[in-house]
Amino acid sequence: MAKMKKKVKTITVNADKCNGCRACEIICSSFHATPKYSSVNPARSRIQVVSHRLKDIMFPVVAGEYAPAECMGRDKYIIAGKEYDECAFCRAVCSTRDIFKEPDTGLPLKCDMCEGEDEPLCVQVCLNDVLVYEEREEEVEAEDKPDELEQSLQALLDDHGLEKLADILARMAEKA
Ligand code: SF4
Ligand code: SF4
Repeated sequence: MAKMKKKVKTITVNADKCNGCRACEIICSSFHATPKYSSVNPARSRIQVVSHRLKDIMFPVVAGEYAPAECMGRDKYIIAGKEYDECAFCRAVCSTRDIFKEPDTGLPLKCDMCEGEDEPLCVQVCLNDVLVYEEREEEVEAEDKPDELEQSLQALLDDHGLEKLADILARMAEKA
């Protein structure tokens, strides 16, 4: 398979420094509002701080890829001797959970590293150095990956079925 150069962007999460202020959720949802910065709704954020007061944990999770199939197994996390929910720290957008889904449409939300900005905004607003941004070049195999629109359509198809989706599109086409 052909090789190509790819710029890889990463955010390292130093979870033990997080105090749960949720500034990252606020700026992310505001940056992705339409129009930009017109509203704040943490449910639309592509970073979510998993918290559990009784267990004293604050753990930022950044939204990853849409996963069409539910996991066959479940992971368990044991941190400082305490056990956490099987899916709590997973980055995938899947049918099992409501996290990382646009609240009005159910479409998957994926971190885009704040496209157009020099540095991700969640990294800029985090005063505790929890989030550390890094860019590097890697040689990878060229592959055909579904684009964002295709992933969104696949998510709607999985949730609502082909018949309902076709009905909605037909109705929209009539109004257009
Ligand atoms: S802004 Fe930083 S400290 Fe605040 S919740 Fe987000 S990761 Fe944690
Ligand atoms: S990098 Fe940007 S899009 Fe990704 S979680 Fe942070 S603020 Fe949201």
